[in-house]
Amino acid sequence: MPTIFSKIVNREIPAEIVFQDDRVTAFKDINPLAPVHILIVPNIEIPTADDIRPEHEATLGHLFVVAQQVARQMGIGESGYRLIVNCKGDGGQEVFHLHMHLLGGRKL
Ligand code: 5GP
Repeated sequence: MPTIFSKIVNREIPAEIVFQDDRVTAFKDINPLAPVHILIVPNIEIPTADDIRPEHEATLGHLFVVAQQVARQMGIGESGYRLIVNCKGDGGQEVFHLHMHLLGGRKL
């Protein structure tokens, strides 16, 4: 059963995609908590941070490189931003497809 984020990655459901390559996709959060609120996801389904394995290292390192690039693209490279990864229930994770929140555009 594909996650809702896999459907966004595969463009089966709409989202405002701001960056995509063969490893990761970045799109606007549907319920933004800041003027800039982007979700950056690996194109492959890794459910949670607790499911990360050594073979994911390159993809997850790339996630940070893309976060920096998208932050600059959104005009918050200089002002700064917050990167968040929630893990499972107590971590506040709602969508079980690993994702990084990129938040900025105001003082957090
Ligand atoms: P989590 O709590 O799992 O770390 O964050 C999930 C995030 O996904 C939430 O900020 C929520 O607003 C966002 N979200 C959930 N469903 C959708 C969707 O269908 N499209 C988009 N663009 N964002 C979504």
